[in-house]
Amino acid sequence: MTGLAIGIEDVRAAAARLEGVAHRTPVLTSATADAMTGARLFFKPENLQRMGAFKFRGAYNALAKLKAEPRPPRGVVAFSSGNHAQAVALAGRLLGLETVIVMPSDAPLIKRQATEGYGGEVVAYDRYTQDREAIGREIAEERGLVLIPPFDHADVMAGQGTAALELLQDVMAMPDAGGLDLLFVCVGGGGLISGSAVAAAALQPGCRVIGVEPAAGDDVRRSLAAEEIVSIPTPQTIADGAQTAAPGRLTFPVIRALVDQVITVEDAALVEAMRFFAGRMKLVVEPTGCLAAAGAFSRAIDIHGQRVGVILSGGNVDLGRFAELIGQG
Ligand SMILES: *Cc1c(COP(=O)(O)O)cnc(C)c1O
Repeated sequence: MTGLAIGIEDVRAAAARLEGVAHRTPVLTSATADAMTGARLFFKPENLQRMGAFKFRGAYNALAKLKAEPRPPRGVVAFSSGNHAQAVALAGRLLGLETVIVMPSDAPLIKRQATEGYGGEVVAYDRYTQDREAIGREIAEERGLVLIPPFDHADVMAGQGTAALELLQDVMAMPDAGGLDLLFVCVGGGGLISGSAVAAAALQPGCRVIGVEPAAGDDVRRSLAAEEIVSIPTPQTIADGAQTAAPGRLTFPVIRALVDQVITVEDAALVEAMRFFAGRMKLVVEPTGCLAAAGAFSRAIDIHGQRVGVILSGGNVDLGRFAELIGQG
């Protein structure tokens, strides 16, 4: 017993639930990236995951566990305008659970349509006058649904950890690599990195886990320094998947125990990484999805001569916006 919300057995159980449902995304390498950094980089492109981000892993794991209960709920409710909304909607459709997504009324139409396209019922709220958590709880109670938070939930964290589990397994099986010395993971609320750190600690205890946050939203770095959860105002950054104000009650202790360091990168470095992935690796990676790579490419950590894992967390970006961003400079 570690006192942490999840252990490796939870990540392995999640991997079993996801088998044949989630894509086992490949491990990609790039001679250019290696030459640029003097390291050996192993990318895990979760932009190629179902619905375009690793969030499918956590959502499906949580919903599949509910569905397997002796008396499963009718459905679930989530509040999100981003990838978690789409992940919950798709997982619900696959498992035959009703899904209600509470979204701000001014959320981009494309996100609303994507969520509805996966079969989710969208309930709009006014972000300036209404409290989404209260609305979510009310709907859950009235309709007998279970609330699924985007990161601060053990089954969500365990599901997200399967991305790093697969990356570690695959790189350890490569005869000329044998494993990772470092693993870079983006940090929003900390669901992905907490699951990933649990996987790394179990499979390869010597592998250092580095979290990467947007410079404008360094709530986790501040929380680690303060040794308690610190909240910041909603950060202004193009990394919209990491605009969280604070780490979670469940994720933060895991990060404290198992993550070696959290660094930050500027938005300009995210755009540069987006351009690299599009131009060199033919990958569409959203700004938030570039956090870990931008952290590895920066000189904040010496990666020279190291075997470095990098999770590309997602690829859901409006194409007009994508063109605009990579067209700059
Ligand atoms: C949600 C999300 C993140 C942040 O994940 P956390 O588990 O909240 O830390 C990073 N990248 C993408 C693409 C996301 O959708």
